[in-house]
Amino acid sequence: MTSDTSASLSISVTELTKTYGKVFALNRVSIDVKAGEFLTLLGPSGSGKTTLLMAIAGFNRPDSGRICFGHEDVTVLPPHKRGVGMVFQNYALFPHMSVFENVAFPLKLRKIPADEKHQRVTEALQTVQLSDFAERGIDQLSGGQRQRVALARAFVFGPKILLMDEPLSALDKKLREEMQIELKQLHRQLGVTTVYVTHDQREALTMSDRIAIIDHGELAQIGTPREIYNAPANHFVASFIGESSFFPLTKNKSGTLHYAGVSVGKVPNRAMHENWTLVIRPERLSLHATKTSKNTDKIYFSGKITELVYQGETVIVMMIMEDGHNLTARMNTRAGNDVDSLRVRQNLLVGIDKQDVIIIPGEAS
Ligand code: ADP
Ligand code: MG
Repeated sequence: MTSDTSASLSISVTELTKTYGKVFALNRVSIDVKAGEFLTLLGPSGSGKTTLLMAIAGFNRPDSGRICFGHEDVTVLPPHKRGVGMVFQNYALFPHMSVFENVAFPLKLRKIPADEKHQRVTEALQTVQLSDFAERGIDQLSGGQRQRVALARAFVFGPKILLMDEPLSALDKKLREEMQIELKQLHRQLGVTTVYVTHDQREALTMSDRIAIIDHGELAQIGTPREIYNAPANHFVASFIGESSFFPLTKNKSGTLHYAGVSVGKVPNRAMHENWTLVIRPERLSLHATKTSKNTDKIYFSGKITELVYQGETVIVMMIMEDGHNLTARMNTRAGNDVDSLRVRQNLLVGIDKQDVIIIPGEAS
C-alpha cells in the first residue's frame, strides 16, 4: 500500500459519558487503544458500542470526557477533520457508481490527482481481491464483495484509524467466518489502528488483539481474548464469553473458599467482597467413575448425569450436583475419552485442574 502505516495512531478515550434523556448510553468509559492494535468493542445490543464508535468518529458529541488521537484532543473536532476510515453494517455504498468510483470517492473528496488516485484505487482493489471487478456496478456484486468494496473505500486514503460497526453481520455464517480471517489478515497488512464493533463473542475472540466488553454503557473488562476467557472479571463477562457453570462458594476463617466441602482456592488478592462464585468452563472437565488419580492438583465433585447431547466433535454432558446445582461438561469424542459408555442417571465424579478454576466476586445466580 502507498499509505503510511508506520504512523498509525493510538486512541485514548477518557471518562466518556453520553446520555440520551435518562439513558446513559455511555457512563464514564475509559479505553486506551494502542497504535496498530485491533480492539473489539463487544457487548449485547443496546450496550453502547455504536455510541462509543460514533463518538470516536466524531458523529456524536459526548456530554463529558475526552477523546485523543495520539497527543491530539479530537473531542470536538468534526468528523471530516479526524481522518478515520469507517465501515458500516449496511455498507453505505453509492449504488449508481462503479466499484472503482466507489473506492475512489474519498480520494476525489481529498482532491488527489488522477494518476495517484488511479494507482491507489488499483492497489486497494488488489488488497481486497477485487481487481477484476473495478468496472462492475454495485448491484452486480455479492454481499461479501460489497463488504470488500466498503473496506477498500475505508482504507484507500491511508487513514491512521479504521472504525468498523458490525461490518459482517449481514453475511451468512460461512462467509462471515471467512471474512473474519480476511479482515484479520488485512489488519496485519495495513497495520492501521482498528476499533471493531460486534455483539458476537466468537467473532471478537477470533479477530482481536484485545476485547473491551461493554455492559449497559460501562466498561466491564478489557484484555486479550485469552485473559478474558481464562479470567473473566465478573458474572456478566463469564456468561457472555464462552459457556460457564456457576457455583456459590463459602469462605472459612482462613480465607479459603469451598464448594460442596471441597477447597477450590484462596480469596483472590486485594479483594474485599463478601461473596464469591466458582466458574467452570465445560471443556476443562474430566469425568471419572472413581477417584483413581493421585494428582493433587485436581479437585473432584460428585454429580449425576441428567442429559447427554451428541454433537459430533463433542458430547455435552449435563449434570446435577449433590446440592442441586447444574453443571455442563463438554467432552471431546476421541476414542480414548470413552464417552459412548456414559448413561443418563449415571453417578460420576467430575475433575478439574486447580489452575482451571475461575473465582469471581458476587453471588452465583
Ligand atoms: P449498541 O450499538 O451496543 O447496540 P447503542 O450505542 O446503539 O448500542 O445504544 C446504546 C443506548 O443508547 C441504547 O439504550 C439506545 O436505545 C440508546 N440510543 C442510542 N442512540 C440513541 C439516539 N439517537 N436517541 C436516543 N437513544 C439512543
Ligand atoms: Mg450498534
